[in-house]
Amino acid sequence: MSKLSNNFDTICVHAGVEPESVTGAIMTPIFQTSTYVQDSPGNPKIYDYSRSGNPTRTALENSLAALEKTKHAVSFSSGLAAVSAIAQLLNPGDHVLVCDDVYGGTGRLFRKIFAKYNIDFEFIDMTITNNLESYFKKNTKLVWIETPTNPLLKLIDIEYISKLSKKFNAISVVDNTFSSPIFQTPIELGADIVLHSTTKYIGGHSDLVGGCLMLNDNSLAEQLKFIQFAGGSVNAPIEAFLLLRSIKTLSLRMKKHNENALFIAKEIQKLKIFSEVIFPGLEDHPQYSLAKKQMRGFSGMISARINGDYDKLKTFVSRLKYFSLAESLGGVESLINHPETMTHASVPLEHRKKLGITSDLLRFSVGIEDAQDLLEDIKSAANF
Ligand SMILES: *Cc1c(COP(=O)(O)O)cnc(C)c1O
Repeated sequence: MSKLSNNFDTICVHAGVEPESVTGAIMTPIFQTSTYVQDSPGNPKIYDYSRSGNPTRTALENSLAALEKTKHAVSFSSGLAAVSAIAQLLNPGDHVLVCDDVYGGTGRLFRKIFAKYNIDFEFIDMTITNNLESYFKKNTKLVWIETPTNPLLKLIDIEYISKLSKKFNAISVVDNTFSSPIFQTPIELGADIVLHSTTKYIGGHSDLVGGCLMLNDNSLAEQLKFIQFAGGSVNAPIEAFLLLRSIKTLSLRMKKHNENALFIAKEIQKLKIFSEVIFPGLEDHPQYSLAKKQMRGFSGMISARINGDYDKLKTFVSRLKYFSLAESLGGVESLINHPETMTHASVPLEHRKKLGITSDLLRFSVGIEDAQDLLEDIKSAANF
């Protein structure tokens, strides 16, 4: 599509989707097919096999690229399949710097699977902006960050890390799942590749699992598309369709997630049940100024520590009506998660302790329900 607006409300509705050429159907149909009839041997019309290409997936990838304002997007069957694809760019002997508070599943994939291939993953605190140069080695090929981090919502300076990575000829990757493209576009800040678990905000309805990579570099895009095709972790046409539908309301949803979370974070700071409330949009967040600098909104994730023992935490959680106890995040409905026993159980204990992922920590994914209803829910559960 030519001359697309620069405004996310418009991009979300229009990007990537053209009326279907035969019938004029305004939405890209679900092309539920594995193969395509050819006119003569070795002469496919456009597509030859759905692992290598499918029209619904093409529309999705065009739409995803528009969201991060990149030339290329490559979609996958899950967020972790997208993480794997990047790791498959590496060779034995390579060194990778990873932010220490990385998504549990990403850390597990690096430690338990890719480390076997003699790739050296070093987990470091990247919230600091001095002395990071000393961690780079001659064989550092990749720098992996996530911001805000999960579950402690620490921020990492994307511009600084991207610059440093370039200086050492390493590829910089930003997992942008927690903010969504609406609030943060890392490529514009100098990063090489952006990753999303589309399971979360982009999907937004807790009904699918998916992932994607967005980038400008032609050579890297070609390699990643080859890994997608040769490795086979593609998303199904129906999931591509569901994502295309979800993207239309992404901007609208994110505004409400952000508004609700900001309101709730401020209000629950006043409750005695929490000893600490962590949200990048609170002025007492240690990196509030960085949040204002690199984000256009603070997204919908809040973490908080319970003032009391584990029994109290369990009682609080069981009393909640609108916040369901479940892993995952970014859906329209509110969720609550206990990182230590749920999403982050696979993080080695010592590492968890060092980071502060202890038994008192809760993570809220604030949905798009009425903000006052959500607050009342928390307040009544907190009434001991
Ligand atoms: C969920 C998540 C992933 C993994 O995505 P899946 O779709 O579950 O495979 C990666 N990074 C972050 C930040 C996530 O929240």
